[in-house]
Amino acid sequence: MNSVIVIGAGLAGSEAALTLASLGVPVKLYEMRPWKMTPAHRTDKPAELVCSNSLGSRRVDKPKGLLLWEALTAGASLPRLALSASVPAGGALAVDRQIFSDLVGKAIQEHPMIEIVRQEVSSFDTDRYTIVAAGPLLSDNLSNYLSSLLGTDFLHFYDAISPTVVADTIDMEYAFWANRYDDSDGGDYLNIPLTEEEYYQFVEDILAARKYVHHDFEEIEKFFDRCLPIEEIARRGKLALAYGPMRPVGLVDPRTGKRPFAVIQLRKENKEGTLLNMVGFQTGISHTDQVKIFRKIPALRHAEFARLGQIHRNTFINAPKVLGDSMSLRCCPKVYVAGQLSGTEGYLEAIMGGFWSALSIFFDMHGIKLPELPKFSMWGGIQRYLHDETVREFQPMGSNFGLLPLPDKKMKKKQRRQWQVKRAIDAWLQYRQQIEKMKMEVSK
Ligand SMILES: Cc1cc2nc3c(=O)[nH]c(=O)nc-3n(C[C@H](O)[C@H](O)[C@H](O)COP(=O)(O)OP(=O)(O)OC[C@H]3O[C@@H](n4cnc5c(N)ncnc54)[C@H](O)[C@@H]3O)c2cc1C
Repeated sequence: MNSVIVIGAGLAGSEAALTLASLGVPVKLYEMRPWKMTPAHRTDKPAELVCSNSLGSRRVDKPKGLLLWEALTAGASLPRLALSASVPAGGALAVDRQIFSDLVGKAIQEHPMIEIVRQEVSSFDTDRYTIVAAGPLLSDNLSNYLSSLLGTDFLHFYDAISPTVVADTIDMEYAFWANRYDDSDGGDYLNIPLTEEEYYQFVEDILAARKYVHHDFEEIEKFFDRCLPIEEIARRGKLALAYGPMRPVGLVDPRTGKRPFAVIQLRKENKEGTLLNMVGFQTGISHTDQVKIFRKIPALRHAEFARLGQIHRNTFINAPKVLGDSMSLRCCPKVYVAGQLSGTEGYLEAIMGGFWSALSIFFDMHGIKLPELPKFSMWGGIQRYLHDETVREFQPMGSNFGLLPLPDKKMKKKQRRQWQVKRAIDAWLQYRQQIEKMKMEVSK
């Protein structure tokens, strides 16, 4: 059997290699460190956690906790090793990063089906099973090669993300649906009106907030041109936002019958409208300060954020446009993309991407397609998002309840979450059973 090529021994690549090897598939795992480092990695170890040492909540009633449960139940290796390397952190799964990397390294080194090759990959044979798991900071050579395969429009190099809110956590008493200059009921935009006082307070808060400093900001500014962060717009004049992304023209607040002083507009981010993106609100303000500032606005008092704004270097594919079945590329069905590069966001999501692409390849080798993921599960929700062509301005996505279907009946938020979690667990257990049965059929 030809070995599967895995590019990158980060979170996704290490998981993919261990999963394939455990299924009896030989793997060649390429890692460019230590010969060539990324701007974030500090060691030559596999599965290095580049920033926080937390994989998120352990609680199954939290989005990351639910994904963790799905990963463990499905048999992914890295979450199990993370549990062995865990350190006390309340409800979170935090690890001793060195012990975690060492455990992953040992599992890889000791596995007879895995050959690790310390070498940068600059191109590859698209007719051979390959998992590209080179992360958001992949080498320039590989990035250029991917651009040549996909076209530059399908590979993004920076994130300038505006926050996304879980729709059912917005207080609708203080918001209204309407399009500009449109008298008819409803509309495509959810508008959060601000009074003059609220607006000036908001601007003041933004100007006082902590920001992430980007040494490559000038490059980013050039790159984004008309897509400036809100704090940069606010810096140019107190009314600049009110004439920019917060302009209220063409809108009438039904509560007052008047045009608001300023407005925050949100637009559906997925087909179901369970996620709403704040239009033109890209920001590099620290995440803690973003939450504090946005929650001062009455409609967002209890808002849950599926994603907060950020601006940083982050290469990822335009997944809905280039992904075909599972996590393979439309242009080259034997090439799979996993991890942050595939358009997921977060450690655990990267691990799950590695696991999933490995499983897909294993079954594809036997001429079997994986059955469709349950839409009620967290991983199913993430995959649906990656494949949703109605998503505008695709940005990477991590676990959140806005990705899961809502009950038809009206329920209080706590009950709604319980309903979503129960559906997810039931659907995932059933799905796992199906996969286990398929594995048994294959091994006969
Ligand atoms: C600075 C930064 C901080 C982050 N902090 C967090 C956080 O705190 N929490 C969180 O949940 N998520 C965080 N993320 C997002 C994401 O979860 C991580 O980037 C995560 O490591 C992604 O896993 P991955 O497997 O996709 O990529 P990585 O873990 O980066 O692995 C990719 C691997 O590929 C190797 N590689 C790259 N190019 C080549 C090549 N051409 N040939 C061979 N090998 C190559 C790299 O050396 C690396 O080992 C952060 C991202 C960045 C950029």
